[in-house]
Amino acid sequence: MAMTASTLSIVFSAFVLASLLVQFWLATRQMRHVAQHREQVPTAFAATVTPEAHRKAADYTLAKGRFGLLQQAITAAVLLGWTLLGGLDALNAWVLDATVPVFGTLGYQIALVVAFSLIASLIDLPADWHATFHIEQRFGFNRMTPRMWVMDQLKGALVGAVIGLPLLALVLWLMGAAGSAWWLWAWGAWMGFNLLLLVIYPTWIAPLFNKFEPLSDASLAQRVQSLMQRCGFAAKGLFVMDGSRRSAHANAYFTGLGSSKRVVFYDTLLARLSAEEVEAVLAHELGHFKHRHVLKRIVAMFAMSLAGLALLGWLSAQQFFYVGLGVQPNLGLPNDALALLLFMLALPSFTFFLSPLMARSSRKHEFQADAYACQQADGRALASALLKLHEDNAATLTPDPLYVRFYYSHPPALERLAALPSVPSPSASAA
Ligand SMILES: [Zn+2]
Repeated sequence: MAMTASTLSIVFSAFVLASLLVQFWLATRQMRHVAQHREQVPTAFAATVTPEAHRKAADYTLAKGRFGLLQQAITAAVLLGWTLLGGLDALNAWVLDATVPVFGTLGYQIALVVAFSLIASLIDLPADWHATFHIEQRFGFNRMTPRMWVMDQLKGALVGAVIGLPLLALVLWLMGAAGSAWWLWAWGAWMGFNLLLLVIYPTWIAPLFNKFEPLSDASLAQRVQSLMQRCGFAAKGLFVMDGSRRSAHANAYFTGLGSSKRVVFYDTLLARLSAEEVEAVLAHELGHFKHRHVLKRIVAMFAMSLAGLALLGWLSAQQFFYVGLGVQPNLGLPNDALALLLFMLALPSFTFFLSPLMARSSRKHEFQADAYACQQADGRALASALLKLHEDNAATLTPDPLYVRFYYSHPPALERLAALPSVPSPSASAA
């Protein structure tokens, strides 16, 4: 049976609706589960987590959950507005008239993507504002001022333009000039761009948003260096990032590629964890490298983009793809920018149903990294660090099991601590 435009419209609507319903169902399950356990700290954590911290985690989860419901509904409505209700079609007609005579066909296509991105980010702004200044603020996590928030948005848009526009122009040009195998060329360009980003992000982009200073605590630096030596890991530097400027949430990460690789600690993490705990957290991150999780993730991303671009290569030449998603393709003019936008809009409703698979593989990786950390550092320190980070992030200790399966990239605290080999039980490691 050949795919027709109306079949695609029906299949697409069904997927949009189905993913929205599943999101709602999972979110309400999660909220009910958390609300039901709000008053009772789980037995395993009775000695380490106060009832106040436990209630705060529940309230934070509920507040984010309620707002999430609203956001998911708005996202679905906006998606239908762009596609089947004719938003992108109308924008296209308008941009086409305004730009083709002046800037030519490549200029028109770039202008269409830029206009779309601007409108889409404007639609997202209120939600970001609310999440920062109402939810994060209410639970004491936000450290941003409205001025910083505005500057962040402007800087983000500027960096996006400087990096994104040349890439966009290149991809659109390839789509028009490289023949029917353009998607293979576009894939090469996209991969090159991603690798370049990995190299320039730590040194050029991240410093636009945060200050990075070399780790000044000599004894901690010594401890971290010897851990990295034990694990056979070379990094170019240890840095402390002023994460506390924006948020009280704590973190540590590796960034960069090859010789630009560096370790970054949030100042909030160093303020909260002991040297043993920082070492254990870092050993966990090194576990991800030792098990080649980072490489596997990059390879998986490369493979998925190849499949996606091949699919787009085929779809962009089909009339039903445009009409079925609510857009009349241009006659006698390139449709590549339209195809790109429609594809990015429509894809998530389908791939949403793959999230449990990705989440499961990610949780498996976390267990492996934890096990590695226990070989290289102190398992008890890892346990107490995880618990502190959990508490500082007001992460719930009592998530709904099905919600976990679908979304959690990290195992819930209870499972994670129970799996640490050298730790008898979370409550016993508290002292
Ligand atoms: Zn991890």
